[in-house]
Amino acid sequence: MRVETLVVGPLQTNAYVLLDESSGQAAVVDPGAAGLRISDALSAAGATLKYILTTHGHADHTGGAFDLKSKSGGEYVVGEGDRGQIESPSSSLAAMIPGFANPPSIDNPVFGGEILDLGESRVIVIATPGHTPGSVCYLSEQALFTGDTLFQNSIGRYDLPGGDGDQELRSIRDNLLTLPDQMIVYPGHGPSSTIGEERVNNPFLQGL
Ligand SMILES: [Zn+2]
Repeated sequence: MRVETLVVGPLQTNAYVLLDESSGQAAVVDPGAAGLRISDALSAAGATLKYILTTHGHADHTGGAFDLKSKSGGEYVVGEGDRGQIESPSSSLAAMIPGFANPPSIDNPVFGGEILDLGESRVIVIATPGHTPGSVCYLSEQALFTGDTLFQNSIGRYDLPGGDGDQELRSIRDNLLTLPDQMIVYPGHGPSSTIGEERVNNPFLQGL
């Protein structure tokens, strides 16, 4: 499994392409903008898009999904708890941030615990409510895609509609810090890290 990072949109959101090289099947995590550019990159790699994986319903993470799905297909996967943010433009922030399209309709609502096949690879859905009610992380081999739940040396804000700081810290403690130290963290914004580095250095996680 190969991971490519593309930085997209005005809020410098990380979009990730997961490619199962043996089958040519791909998944895209959070196409926040530039859906057509991501689609072109998939075509150039000869990849077939199987999933569009959404870590949460905020528009800077979902803004490219409509164009990407229109051009490349793929199953649109969203945490059920963020259905309202996906289906209502006013609460998805799409209305506040110009240039973000409304997302497509949800094909596969997830709750955590699902295992998605991607060629010979697997993607596991981990529920991490807090930043938003339906925030999820995606785990594949040594890669963990954390959206706006966990960043290098920081965590996602929880003062937006539906956010809950205590719940966010519980999600990180119980569902992410239980993973091995060498697990690579690919966050929704900023540089990648590892679970071990965050366990030691992230000031928000000390004393959890
Ligand atoms: Zn967010």
